[in-house]
Amino acid sequence: VTEIDIQARKCPVCDSVANTLLYRQKFAQFAQGGLLSGYDIVTCNNCGFGYADHIPPQSWFDAYYRDLSKYEYPQRAGEESQCDRERYVHMSQYLAPFITPESNILDFGCATAGLLHELKQRGFGRVTGIDPSPTCSLAARKLYDINVLTTDLSTAHVPDKSYDLIILTGVLEHIVNVRSALQKMHGWLVKDGIIFVDVPDATAFSDWPDAPYQAFSTEHINFFSRSSLAAAMLRNGFGVVDQREVDRYYTRGTIMPSTIGIYRKVEVRVNATIPDMETQPCLLEYIRLSAQRENRIKLAIEAIVSSGEEIIVWGVGTHTLHLMETTNLTDANIVAFVDSNTNYQGNSLKGVPIISPQMLTQHKQPILISSRVFQTEIQDQIRNHLNLPNEIICLYDDIEGVEPR
Ligand SMILES: [Zn+2]
Repeated sequence: VTEIDIQARKCPVCDSVANTLLYRQKFAQFAQGGLLSGYDIVTCNNCGFGYADHIPPQSWFDAYYRDLSKYEYPQRAGEESQCDRERYVHMSQYLAPFITPESNILDFGCATAGLLHELKQRGFGRVTGIDPSPTCSLAARKLYDINVLTTDLSTAHVPDKSYDLIILTGVLEHIVNVRSALQKMHGWLVKDGIIFVDVPDATAFSDWPDAPYQAFSTEHINFFSRSSLAAAMLRNGFGVVDQREVDRYYTRGTIMPSTIGIYRKVEVRVNATIPDMETQPCLLEYIRLSAQRENRIKLAIEAIVSSGEEIIVWGVGTHTLHLMETTNLTDANIVAFVDSNTNYQGNSLKGVPIISPQMLTQHKQPILISSRVFQTEIQDQIRNHLNLPNEIICLYDDIEGVEPR
C-alpha cells in the first residue's frame, strides 16, 4: 500500500456525478504505508444514495485488505467473538429456508469462515470461501477445515454459473465499483441462484450510541439503506426476494444496525430510479449527534493535554486516526501506541511507535483506550490477560445496558 490516487467517484448505484457534500472525514497518516487521508460523505442528487467521494481506486483497497486486514483476530488466534458467533447463528437461520444440502455456497469476503462453519454444522456442506487475506485462509483451514481461496474481486477466477448462493456479509459497503462487483457475481450464480447481502443500515446510524463519526470508517465507503440496496440490486440483475432490518450486537454494548436481504438472479435489469429520500436526513442527523459526542471527547482530551502527563494510546484504527485530525490528541504526551493488529506493529504515527500489547509490560504510564466498540474487550485484556496495573482512561460511559430493539 503506497501511493494514493484520489478520484472523483460516480454514484455507485446510478452512475450519476452530481452529489451533495454532507461531511468531510479526515484520518491521520502512518509513517509507512499510506492510508486514506479522508474522504467526503455525499449523497447522490439523482437517487439519494450515500457514499464516500474522492477515494482511491479499488486496487488500493485490494492491497489494503491483503496487507493490513484486521479480520484475523490475532488476539483470539483467528477465532471469532461470542457476538460474531451469535450473528452467524442468526444468519444461518435466516438462510436455511432458501437453500438445500445440495446448494453450492460461496462466501465472498468470508474472513476466517465462521459463517460457513455454522452452515456446515447445519447440513449445508458444499461451502467455499474467498478472502483477500492469506492469514484468513490458513485460520479457516485450521479451525474449521474449510477451503478459503486467497484472492479478491479483480483476480478471482470463478467459473460461470457455479454457485446456488453467494453470501456478501459486510462486503458491499467496502467496494468501490458496486455495479461491476454485482455483475460479476451475477455471472457466477446458476439460473435462479440467490445472493444474500448484509450491510450496515445508514438510516439507523443515529439510533445507537457510537463513537463520533465511527460509521465513516477507513474502510466503509458505501452507506446503504433498504431502498438504495434494493435499487443497486435491481439495476444489476437481481429481484428482491426478502428484505429486512436487523439490530445485532457487534460487541457487547455496541449495536450494528444492518439492512439484509435475499435477491434472486433474473435476466432483466431495472434502470428506473427509485429515489431514496431517507438517507440524507438520517446521515445529517448522525453527523449532528457525532459533533455533540465529539465535543465531550474534546474536553476529556483537553484535560490530558494540559496535564502534560505521559500516556499510552491503545488502538490505531478509525477512532484514533480521526481524533488525531479533529481534536488536539496529537499534542498529548503520547509515548507509545498499542494495537493488537500485528500489521501495524513496528509502524509509527506522528513519530510515535506502535507496539504490541505484550510490550506494554515495559511501560507504567496510564493507558487511554481509543475505541468505543472494543473498550470493554481492551479493558479486560489489560487487567485479566496482560495483568497490568496501569491506570486506564476510558472515553465512553454509555456501554452498559445497550440492547437490540
Ligand atoms: Zn445515484
